[in-house]
Amino acid sequence: MSRPLTAPLSAQPSSATLTTLLAEERTFPAPEAVAQVANLDAAAAEAWRQRGVEDPEGFWAEQAAHLDWETPWNTVLQWSPPTFAEGADVTDPLAELSVPSARWFDGGTLNAAVNCLDRHVAAGHGDRVATHFEGERGDTRTITYADLLAEVSRAANALSALGVEPGDRVVLYLPVIPETLITVLACARIGAVHSLVFGGFSAEALRFRVADTTAKVVVATDGQFRRGRAVPVKAAVDEAVAGLDHVEHVLVVRRTGEEAFAGEPIPWTEGRDVWWHDVVDTADTAHEAVAFPAEHPLFIIYTSGSTGRPKGLLHTTGGYLTHARYAHWAHFDAHPETDVHWCTADLAWVTAHSFAIYGPLLNGVTQVMYEGVPDFPAPGRHFEIIEKYRATTYYTAPTLVRACMTWGDDVPARYDLSSLKLLGSVGEPINPEVWMWFRENVGGGTAPVVDTWWQSETGATVVAPLPGATTLKPGSATRPLPGLDAAVVDDTGAEVQPSQGGWLVVRRPWPGMARTVWGNPERYRDAYWRQFAVQGYYAAGDGARYDADRYLWLLGRLDDVVNVSGHRLSTTEVESALVAHPDVAEAGVVGVGDELTGQAVAAFVIPSRRSVLDDDDAHPALEAALRQQVATVIGPVAKPKHVVVVRDLPKTRSGKIMRRILGDLLEGRAPGDTTSLSDERAVDAVRDGIAARR
Ligand code: ATP
Ligand code: MG
Repeated sequence: MSRPLTAPLSAQPSSATLTTLLAEERTFPAPEAVAQVANLDAAAAEAWRQRGVEDPEGFWAEQAAHLDWETPWNTVLQWSPPTFAEGADVTDPLAELSVPSARWFDGGTLNAAVNCLDRHVAAGHGDRVATHFEGERGDTRTITYADLLAEVSRAANALSALGVEPGDRVVLYLPVIPETLITVLACARIGAVHSLVFGGFSAEALRFRVADTTAKVVVATDGQFRRGRAVPVKAAVDEAVAGLDHVEHVLVVRRTGEEAFAGEPIPWTEGRDVWWHDVVDTADTAHEAVAFPAEHPLFIIYTSGSTGRPKGLLHTTGGYLTHARYAHWAHFDAHPETDVHWCTADLAWVTAHSFAIYGPLLNGVTQVMYEGVPDFPAPGRHFEIIEKYRATTYYTAPTLVRACMTWGDDVPARYDLSSLKLLGSVGEPINPEVWMWFRENVGGGTAPVVDTWWQSETGATVVAPLPGATTLKPGSATRPLPGLDAAVVDDTGAEVQPSQGGWLVVRRPWPGMARTVWGNPERYRDAYWRQFAVQGYYAAGDGARYDADRYLWLLGRLDDVVNVSGHRLSTTEVESALVAHPDVAEAGVVGVGDELTGQAVAAFVIPSRRSVLDDDDAHPALEAALRQQVATVIGPVAKPKHVVVVRDLPKTRSGKIMRRILGDLLEGRAPGDTTSLSDERAVDAVRDGIAARR
């Protein structure tokens, strides 16, 4: 959460009264065929869970042992919990509190890139495909583990030659191309700290991150392909780094060539700017890697910015790699000989760090990498790619699945998707009806949908089903992974009863946890550790509830809860009720001030049919139908007072709805920080929708 939890505990909203009414009864046991070959079947999963509870440090030590360590660790965990100064009033938000510190596998040394590449090549798997790259225009590259090792070694030599030392920051402003992966691993190899910035962000958003990390080198492309067009990038990079003296070099990958510059020469600063093909392609393919301490910084990742200014979370090496490898192996049921794993997230998002870069490479699987968007040149591009590469795992975000649903069932039906073994979802709660559609139309009616709850802060997955063991329920992320102690608690830190809502917390440190907010340890302490400092719990900022089987249901951010006459309603539940209506493609729900009820539910909906969107006269009927829908599915208390029909919703680049902007616009305020928006025009779309009602 970006708003530090500075209110005294007693003034926090009372989570125990969170009203949760949405009921979901459908269950799907693990398919026999999946269970039989799974890394963890039901019995193993239970044993692992038990071990995680009884001996958590022993559990994580076993997981860490799957990596190659140059030097073994001395201690598994050294944990200094947040501690109040003696005599402090713990309810005072300004009470003196120490910054917590976790050190995992202290004394151990390892090299991240060696673990991702060299050891697979040394084990005789150099010929295995690491990445099937598919460019937006259909250009392809097949890169084996041996190829990737050679390329990464070159880039490592080149970065060192440019003066990059261990601990220096390198910012990557790149599309989803092989050079991005190569640069990430090259940084890791030489102990430099990488920070990826989404290639579609503005110069301003890039500048903030380059300055915040005081990066020494920025890696970018000359231009990018976007929906078939070549657009220039380099000028934006120049603007972003102007006057930042710490930036010594801009390393430029030629992607579009002159096409993006309409015949003009690319803007170039002699001495500072260097071409990739001049310095990397000519470098030596041999590179002797050295090992770094387990707590050596690996990367800085900025949160998606749904709730405010992004935070730069720092992740370190040994613990993060241990968690990412384990999570990918367990909930994606990794099988290196047969897997063709595809995580569709942009590489700059934490999802891709753990499940398109480190997790899958540590497990030695084959992956798919795609540069473009899902609906260019036509809806179905993703399905075409799944068919072409016989992908076995398809891990994406609910927003994309909802978009697929509007394209129609016939789009996935045109492709052979029979290779898919598992589906995955991340980024937002997946609405039960969307889950069902995904399983049915993309997963052939049998593929388990693995809904993974986690955050930039957690490093890798905290709550997710195990496909060979867990009975699934549509819309539930099910249970914490073995070894992770996530729970739902009330304001006092006590675990809530089944069917009650509360705060999602993690009660014990875990190896993938972010170690700090870059340059701002106090923000780290206050945002995540102050609220439950007495208990020493990590507060995720999300709400959740248990059902009778102790499954977890994510309810959205507790910041977003709508309080109607004392009933605290989850935005997620209201949105799920809305998208279950056939005429709704997407819905964003916020609370807005109301004289009578304190807050009222405001629903912003994108109709699933263009004809409904364009016909203003059809809106009143739709609004009435949706009020009825919510009243039936959840209860009259959740009925939206305002229903706004819109053609688009403001989202972060990772596809999350930015609810605070909806509230700002409806209540006539200027929207706050919008630098994380994927498309600024969505703000106008919402304004138009609001204006049309008046
Ligand atoms: P900021 O913290 O800057 O507002 P953010 O929280 O969107 O940004 P991320 O770390 O990318 O940044 O996203 C993590 C959040 O995404 C979680 O806290 C949760 O709200 C949501 N989320 C991710 N996966 C799931 C999931 N499977 N189910 C429900 N919510 C999810
Ligand atoms: Mg967050």
